[in-house]
Amino acid sequence: MTATVRTVLGDVAPEELGVCDAHDHLFFRSPLLPGQELDDTAAAEAELHAYRNAGGGAVVQWTPHGLGRRAELLPELSTATGVRIVAATGLHQAAHYTPESLARLRPVLADVFVRELTEGIGDSGVRAGLIKVAGGFHALDDHAVWTMRAAAEAHHATGAPIAVHHELGTGVLDVLDLLCGELGLAPERVVLGHLNRSPDFAVHRQAAESGAYLAFDGPSRANHATDWRMPDAMAALADAGYGDRLLLGGDTTTAGARSVSGGPGMPYLLRRVRPRLELVLGKALVDRILVDNPGRVFAVERLPGT
Ligand SMILES: [Zn+2]
Repeated sequence: MTATVRTVLGDVAPEELGVCDAHDHLFFRSPLLPGQELDDTAAAEAELHAYRNAGGGAVVQWTPHGLGRRAELLPELSTATGVRIVAATGLHQAAHYTPESLARLRPVLADVFVRELTEGIGDSGVRAGLIKVAGGFHALDDHAVWTMRAAAEAHHATGAPIAVHHELGTGVLDVLDLLCGELGLAPERVVLGHLNRSPDFAVHRQAAESGAYLAFDGPSRANHATDWRMPDAMAALADAGYGDRLLLGGDTTTAGARSVSGGPGMPYLLRRVRPRLELVLGKALVDRILVDNPGRVFAVERLPGT
């Protein structure tokens, strides 16, 4: 049985991803970001071309259910640009949705996740390759616990990894207690996101000791206060022996943050973050972080529906 990564163009061997932006967004629409929606197809394609030209091979889009993923457009964008794309199912924090849409999902959430992982998102036929969920600031509210229970159920049915948005990088250990303690996930199937937003090296090390993957994603204006700690934070984890658990992403969440709109965007990860990290981690480890680690964590032994 071989492990494959579920891209929008089908399942591929992990080594086919190449250099991977492990957390980013081509499309994203939320009432919390009015006027900054990522919903311009031409801009998404231009950003992918720019990322490809900078050496990028794959992008994992963490946009979950109901937030304008535009799954039906992703295969064509992937074909046009040569960048492999992995789409997500899952659910964000409650504030991103109407109470009515959450009420509709309440009895069926795990089934929705499984269907999007095995049959397709909406009627696009495009299948998701990961489940994205979200915690809160230093805590998990009822909504977060509900979505994580549904995500764990979908994980146990499909093997798909779970990727977690941590509010300002906090709540990591509570998430691990719930997903891996109570709900039975193997830690190496969990990706903990936004750790650069809370550069608490002790918590990072506790999280890494569990065996989970730690994603450092950014930069952005909102997270500028902590972004500069990223090289030291990653070096501390690498020195402690957790280099094989590190991931990097761009996390472009607003239209103005795209490189083709004058922001850092996806290419920044390879144009500036990569050489900066090579100074402190060495080229070989940064290559593993960009290529080997994502290929491992996003690969699944067997997904039903293949
Ligand atoms: Zn994100």
